[in-house]
Amino acid sequence: MHGLMMDYPLTIDRILEHANRIYGDRQIYTKLPNGSTHTYTYADLYRRAKRLASALSKRGIQIGDRLGTFGWNNYQHMELYYGIPGCGAVCHTLNIRLFAEQVAYIIEHAEDRIVFIDASLLKLFEPIAAQVSCVEQYVLYGVDSVPETTLPNVLLYEDLIAEGDDDYPWPVTDERTAMGMCYTSGTTGDPKGALYSHRSMYLHTIGMLQANAAAITSADMILPVVPQFHVMSWGIPFAAALAGAELIMPGPFLQPGPLADMVQDYKVTVVTGVPTIWMGVYQEVQKNPRDLSSIRALIVGGSAMPRSMIEAYEGKLGVNVVHAWGMTEMSPLGTICHLSRQHEGLSQSEQWDVKAKQGTPIGGIELRIVDGDGQELPWDGATMGELQVRGPWVIKQYFKREPSAESFTSDGWFRTGDVCTMTPDGYMQITDRTKDLIKSGGEWISSVDLENALIAHPLVREAAVIAIPDEKWSERPMAAVVPIEGQTGLNVDDLQAHLSAHFAKWMLPDKFVFITEVPKTSTGKFDKKVLRQQYTDGKLA
Ligand code: AMP
Repeated sequence: MHGLMMDYPLTIDRILEHANRIYGDRQIYTKLPNGSTHTYTYADLYRRAKRLASALSKRGIQIGDRLGTFGWNNYQHMELYYGIPGCGAVCHTLNIRLFAEQVAYIIEHAEDRIVFIDASLLKLFEPIAAQVSCVEQYVLYGVDSVPETTLPNVLLYEDLIAEGDDDYPWPVTDERTAMGMCYTSGTTGDPKGALYSHRSMYLHTIGMLQANAAAITSADMILPVVPQFHVMSWGIPFAAALAGAELIMPGPFLQPGPLADMVQDYKVTVVTGVPTIWMGVYQEVQKNPRDLSSIRALIVGGSAMPRSMIEAYEGKLGVNVVHAWGMTEMSPLGTICHLSRQHEGLSQSEQWDVKAKQGTPIGGIELRIVDGDGQELPWDGATMGELQVRGPWVIKQYFKREPSAESFTSDGWFRTGDVCTMTPDGYMQITDRTKDLIKSGGEWISSVDLENALIAHPLVREAAVIAIPDEKWSERPMAAVVPIEGQTGLNVDDLQAHLSAHFAKWMLPDKFVFITEVPKTSTGKFDKKVLRQQYTDGKLA
């Protein structure tokens, strides 16, 4: 017997309807490239997103068509997040930091019919456009007239919006309809497309809002530093609207100085970003102090937040750090770290140890760890295994690819490629990517543990550890270390002595190299593939 409750479709337009009705007067601020600030409300967003959806339908965009976006975090990109799915099409966010050939590959693979381009990125986009054939129309936003360009078929965004109707009825009734798409950053092989549905994104939004997750409310002012082209800005544009939180969109101003200013000027309560961003902001406020005390949650993920940075933010600046883990394939939020009642008696230092973990799965997500044969491993806080996940906002298949055994298990779990431990009370800690673990004489060494220890050294700014081939042990660790600017006193003996306090002798790196910067991917993660190519002659790349 079925229950007798409504089949209310979980579509993204419901979120915007709620925001308009209940929080219509709440502000969304955007930092514009000319330095001024654009201000409008959720009611304005609602009206313009509706007109956009209407105009796209009039121009023949069909349910399921993919439309690309190429832009910063701003109010127009918010409109695209709602207007494109609002007419049944798929909002396909393109990563502005990839090489032209990669973006062109992704556009062609997705068969984007329209691409919306932030005018400040037009020059960056032109070489991409030269390599694609599927796009019928380019729509430019952020300008009043079409500048000189090599792009064909250019339309102004404001002209498109003017074509739409205010009373357009949202057409999507099936919540399983695709609404958004994001390609993985592609450090291994070709980028792969994750295709989100209205239902999966709606449920992810509810998941984000849980008190044990991001706990966003109408009392918040959020600064989403995570780009809208990276996993839907971690879902903040939807979560903020459903909760009625105000937003300050940073546009192109992602440097530490302007970000610290925005926190201070807008009394920001929630920020999201990768560790590199927060390391930069920390160094900035050491030099030029700002008031960051309004932040109640500095949500950090994308790669591991070093414990030393958690200690710096909490101990020195009094800012609560919330460590989270997720993936493009998970919309992205999987786990988040909050202290629980059982941590009350712990010392501050022990609490920071807990906060350095990636935390517990949020309600809706299931985790398990398995060995090489797929056997489940114990949650004892020490046993490392491959992390597998399932839940209503986890991918079941990549776009235009059959589900492979490399990514999906036969019993319906997604293989994350991360290696972790689980404590008995459900706290997950990433120890590595499966491909980054170092196997020395049959024993595993975690590159992440070594990196965390190195970065805690007062003269170290960044450190990345990779495996180098070794005849006797098969692999040995090598550390690439970036000294803090102007510090010349750093040497290998010091670093070895520093690490010896935490690691067995056989785990210590055999080789240290000093570099000026760790190579990064388009989303700010360490690009160990590049390091491996450099230091192993491509043997372990
Ligand atoms: P992406 O799909 O680009 O967001 O990358 C997802 C991957 O980033 C995960 O599989 C992890 O390897 C890594 N990652 C994300 N968050 C964290 C975190 N808090 N700590 C360590 N690694 C993380």
